[in-house]
Amino acid sequence: MAKKFETAKNAQPAKKSQPAKSATAKKTAAKTVTKARAKNEKAQLKSKTKSDTNPNTRVAKDAKAIKLVSKATASEMMGRLRALYPDADCELNFESPFQLLTAVIMSAQTTDVQVNKVTGKLFSRFPTAKALAEGDIEEIKEIIKPTGYYNAKAQSIQSCAQQLVLKFGGEVPDTLEELTTLPGVGRKTANVVLGVEFGQRGWTVDTHVQRITKRLGFTKNEDPYKIELDLQKLFPDDDWSLFSITIIWHGRRMCYARNPDCPACPLKDICPSSEV
Ligand code: SF4
Repeated sequence: MAKKFETAKNAQPAKKSQPAKSATAKKTAAKTVTKARAKNEKAQLKSKTKSDTNPNTRVAKDAKAIKLVSKATASEMMGRLRALYPDADCELNFESPFQLLTAVIMSAQTTDVQVNKVTGKLFSRFPTAKALAEGDIEEIKEIIKPTGYYNAKAQSIQSCAQQLVLKFGGEVPDTLEELTTLPGVGRKTANVVLGVEFGQRGWTVDTHVQRITKRLGFTKNEDPYKIELDLQKLFPDDDWSLFSITIIWHGRRMCYARNPDCPACPLKDICPSSEV
């Protein structure tokens, strides 16, 4: 917008240097400048208003001011959330560790609901790591298209399947170290698989956990690994996986990124970010 304004402004001297300029032409030039300036000011105002009222911006600013809560308060908060979501569980559909791993990789930048819409067809065509490793990449892309970023995701899930076959006999390994050697598998994905499928302890620091643990005063960190370390210190390790899923449920159902539903939240009286 600023560039547009400058262009209109810069056009003035050139027009002035034309001696035979008519009154109408002068009027038109002045109008153009006024219009461009008004447009520029409007854009600036709009951007300011947007940043002042954007809930994400506000929460991000407030997060720095939020005091960390004590272990006792953190435990009380998690107790209330567990009571609110007693059935919290992984919401992806799968029938084997391989299917879970593949579904988690595909859940990047989309919802579990969206992933569940394609996994039925995907896993009936390619039920095992070997089948997916040998599958036609174009067919895989076509099936998983609704999850978005399907070119990259198809490459990831097929490369992952190929490595599972080559390095692990087609089975999903059950250690963080081995899992994170697979294409498309980071610490977050590995922790989901370890917690859900193998019953191992681990924090899944996804976008919901990142946002909500800051709002609740469990951490001040931005980096997922540092958040994980803060959470490890705050809660007993037996609860890590279950608490991750519980917080994710809260993020999907109440503590939204934009406009969290604080009036309905059972933590509203003790949450440092409560808006009621
Ligand atoms: S009170 Fe509001 S900000 Fe705090 S956890 Fe509940 S919904 Fe989120």
